[in-house]
Amino acid sequence: MKIKQFYINGEWVTPDGNEEINLINPANEQTVGSIISASKKDVDSAVESANNAFNSASNLSLEDKKQILQEVIDGMSNRRDDFAKVISEQMGAPLKMSSGAQYGSGVIHFKNTLSVIDDFKFQEIHDNITINKLPIGPVGMITPWNWPLNQMCTKIASAIAAGTSFVLKPSEITPGAAHILAEVIHDTSMPKGMFNLIHGHGATVGREMSSHNGLEMISFTGSTRAGIDIQKKASENIKRVSLELGGKSPNIILEDVDLPSAIKMGMKQCFFNTGQSCSSPTRMLVPESLMKDATSIAVQTSKEMVTGDPLQEETFLGPISNKKQFEKVQELIQVGIEEGATLACGGVGRPDGIKKGFFVKPTVFTNVDNSMRIAQDEIFGPVICLIPYKDIEDAISIANDTSYGLSSMVSCADPQKGQEIAKRIRAGQVIVNRISRGDYPAPFGGFKMSGNGREHGTFGIEEYLEVQAVIS
Ligand code: NAD
Repeated sequence: MKIKQFYINGEWVTPDGNEEINLINPANEQTVGSIISASKKDVDSAVESANNAFNSASNLSLEDKKQILQEVIDGMSNRRDDFAKVISEQMGAPLKMSSGAQYGSGVIHFKNTLSVIDDFKFQEIHDNITINKLPIGPVGMITPWNWPLNQMCTKIASAIAAGTSFVLKPSEITPGAAHILAEVIHDTSMPKGMFNLIHGHGATVGREMSSHNGLEMISFTGSTRAGIDIQKKASENIKRVSLELGGKSPNIILEDVDLPSAIKMGMKQCFFNTGQSCSSPTRMLVPESLMKDATSIAVQTSKEMVTGDPLQEETFLGPISNKKQFEKVQELIQVGIEEGATLACGGVGRPDGIKKGFFVKPTVFTNVDNSMRIAQDEIFGPVICLIPYKDIEDAISIANDTSYGLSSMVSCADPQKGQEIAKRIRAGQVIVNRISRGDYPAPFGGFKMSGNGREHGTFGIEEYLEVQAVIS
């Protein structure tokens, strides 16, 4: 996939920039395409296009917005196989999962937004006061590589509903899904220039967007490191910044659970997408008395997870998405060994029999102390830490002893107990006794260093609105 153009003002344009970035298939380390990194002039023209289109975007009627959302859903479903193929090729997710969860987690945002937009209150009247919720103005969207469609689509669906224009810069590692999405959007009735797509490095193009005077907001999903930098740059013109960042989520296993099913569920959730999810429950908190049994179930579960070629039907763990991330995961596994955690299975190096590609051994550490780096740093690979706790107070205190606060899990026999524990966990999401999030578009976002934004459904739309009081 050689992408030589950007999508600006409703047209495919040749970039001013000329630096080529190669796209690498992490399963075989082969080059599978390239993109051009935008110059300052390219960023300026995308931002100018979004500004010119802001009026048309903000004047869309409810019916117009619903029609666009539906057209995107229809267009995406016609390109499902194309999305799945580029996602697998560029970030290594097993093809079955790319066509399933990776594709599904993207398109669902347009469906969910459609399901809430009729009841969304863009205006409230109280006596002589009218409160208008108006589109914020042109938005810059910067997204990562781990769930490429999901993260773009949640932002775009909400921006359409709010009626604002935007410039998207997807990850330079997985730009393919954004390119196909632009082709889909090109065939919808969206006003020209409402959606603009440019590519390139975060350190140049992303930073140019963060400090650009022509953007009113940056919506960012990615690392806490980049989020901090974006917030600093955006402060130069008091831009609103919505940050969806990293996590180190706890999974509290209570003593009264069916241990095998709770551990298996936690392992599957942690290792899904090869452990590259911001909400992965990477710290499994286990009652001291059950640590031995929990460890053997976790080890057995990891052995049942097939690692290998993303194109094979049975593959559950693909490679890590890129070399830099692969090296970081290897380094942190080594750190865990040196810190004195017990390596129950896995470890450094590629899995047996695999010579090429950024594959990692599924790794289980037990007897981990929560102060260790492997319990505090986001590893972003198929690595789990089993941490013993004494009683529920100890478990809650360990769960909250982290700079992050994105997600968490609780496995317990009594669902009411789960609700009570949830209120004491400092995280934006607590999943009690299940894996999936269910049908209602629940808000998603973090406490503490996991960010300040909330996405999905009505909460996502709110992010792109300014509140105006009219007193008459
Ligand atoms: P990253 O921060 O390196 O890159 C994300 C995006 O930001 C890319 O498009 C990149 O080009 C751009 N970027 C990088 N540095 C930038 C800068 N200084 N200014 C502006 N843009 C910049 O992150 P990544 O490695 O691609 O993604 C993994 C991280 O994302 C993990 O930490 C993960 O937890 C987090 N994440 C969070 C969520 C969430 O919703 N909270 C979802 C997915 C991933």
